[in-house]
Amino acid sequence: MRPIAQAKLIVYRWRLAQVTTSRAPASHCYGWGMQKPNEARTPRRRSRAPRIILLSLFALGVALLFRQGLVPSPLSPFPALDLAQPNPWFVDWRLAELKNNRELCPRVLKAPHVAAQPIPDHRGSDGCGWINAVRLESAGGVRAGFDKVTCEVSAALALWLEHDVQAIAREMLGQRVVSIQSFGSYSCRNIIGNPFWKNMKSEHAFANAVDIGAFNLADGRRISVAQHWKGDGVEARFLKAVHGRACRYFRVALSPEYNQAHHDHLHLDRGPLWRCK
Ligand SMILES: [Zn+2]
Repeated sequence: MRPIAQAKLIVYRWRLAQVTTSRAPASHCYGWGMQKPNEARTPRRRSRAPRIILLSLFALGVALLFRQGLVPSPLSPFPALDLAQPNPWFVDWRLAELKNNRELCPRVLKAPHVAAQPIPDHRGSDGCGWINAVRLESAGGVRAGFDKVTCEVSAALALWLEHDVQAIAREMLGQRVVSIQSFGSYSCRNIIGNPFWKNMKSEHAFANAVDIGAFNLADGRRISVAQHWKGDGVEARFLKAVHGRACRYFRVALSPEYNQAHHDHLHLDRGPLWRCK
């Protein structure tokens, strides 16, 4: 063979050897210590769903603890409610903190916003009773006589009467509200007027609800739920406006629109349910 042909043959063999060694091995040839090229390049994708579900459940549990007032005071990030401040943030959770906290109650229910005296706890054998309650004389500068009512409801009443009811009364009626007509707070009974809830204790059974029949103005007028709710006069508009604002502070705020059992009063409570009608 001539030298040129011999050199060409050597180059051809060298190139063939390069191609053979650089080719990826066949799929059935992987052994110990060898990885498929695809596996090395693309890491296995892990699902985020379990982590998201766990975080959601944790957040839901924390929210429920705050809503039920079960977070101990030292662990709460919220300052005590100041009844002088309108529109407090996280108002529902901060009111709920008053449910079981005896030390917090007198720090919140203060003059001139509230006049009240604490009363001893009572747990009846019939499943009724109250804890952390007061005898209320006035709330939000309005005479509001309830002989047994929880600290939580008293604070909600004070915020509603002082910052919402008075502003609406001045704007719509040109007068201040000086007192409310109480239809009662504590009553050991089940929920009435709704067959679905008839076996459940009313929040009245825990002094955690108030019924209001009328608002008395400084000029002597009385705006009564029984007399003025129906119709389109300014008194009816006043009652509907103050009922709507009550839903900021009370989880349940029922009016004559709800059912016949409430034809003559507004029912306001801080129980576990949520209804504004
Ligand atoms: Zn009621």
